[in-house]
Amino acid sequence: MAKIIDGKDLAKKFREEVAAEAKTLTVKPHLAVILVGDDPASHTYVGMKEKACKAANVESTVHRLPAEATQDELMMLIDGLNSDRGVNGILVQMPLPSHLDQMAIFGAVKREKDVDGFHPTNIGLMNLGFAEALIPCTPAGIMEMLKSIDYPLKGKHVVVVGRSNVVGKPLSTLALLADATVTTCHRHTENLAHFTRQADVLIVAVGKVNLITADMVKPGAVVIDVGTNRVGDKLVGDVDYDAVATLASFITPVPGGVGPMTIALLLKNTVLAAKIQNG
Ligand code: NAD
Repeated sequence: MAKIIDGKDLAKKFREEVAAEAKTLTVKPHLAVILVGDDPASHTYVGMKEKACKAANVESTVHRLPAEATQDELMMLIDGLNSDRGVNGILVQMPLPSHLDQMAIFGAVKREKDVDGFHPTNIGLMNLGFAEALIPCTPAGIMEMLKSIDYPLKGKHVVVVGRSNVVGKPLSTLALLADATVTTCHRHTENLAHFTRQADVLIVAVGKVNLITADMVKPGAVVIDVGTNRVGDKLVGDVDYDAVATLASFITPVPGGVGPMTIALLLKNTVLAAKIQNG
């Protein structure tokens, strides 16, 4: 039976470390969150982020825009926060209403305040392995989860299912930088099971319930389930958890796995951003 990688527990330790580090800074780090529209899940996520900031000695402010806000209005808000010396981190809560250009927003947040790690410069710095890169929170959290079980990726075959700019692609990069052999699968991959069965570490970030069944997993594999899918009033991942847990060596639950680590890494990035800005 697989051991559970407890994201809640690990995130708590991480948040405590961040809180201690934030206290050593001369000025309290400040995260500004922009929320556009009324998406209930986004409101919940922003609430969780505010709560986590408070507990970690990080100041947070939420800037709300109506769902019909224009690109110009959003850009003006970002510009103001970019030049506000009292703000260290800026996060634009995704998804944005469909009339707004998400890619333009990624490039608009000043790279030094880009705590989501989506700015092209941060992506470049990450790819080149520079320490001052602000790295996307979910992939960074997953790398910390793998460290927590003392599982060096060197020489291992990591299969990432999903290639989004925010999860799959940066994860593949980080695994490659950690000397793994990496295969990235996506919606056009033919015979997905052929690849997943070869994985020493299988990371699934798609958003499809039961996409990964037990017959698609190598016995002893480490399985990281990033997916979050709402089924009735329950949250489930992309992996058929009960069946896969009988043969994996380690597995992350949903909820209580990757999600809490994502928030912990957001706090870490905010403190890092404050340090970068203050030399
Ligand atoms: P996305 O929709 O941007 O990307 C999904 C990816 O899955 C795409 O690259 C697509 O090619 C691939 N895909 C789709 N169908 C597939 C199939 N049948 N086989 C193989 N690949 C397929 O999503 P995202 O933003 O990367 O998020 C992925 C999932 O992770 C979602 O469920 C999301 O809610 C969740 N998520 C969780 C956290 C967290 O903190 N727990 C953070 C971010 C995303």
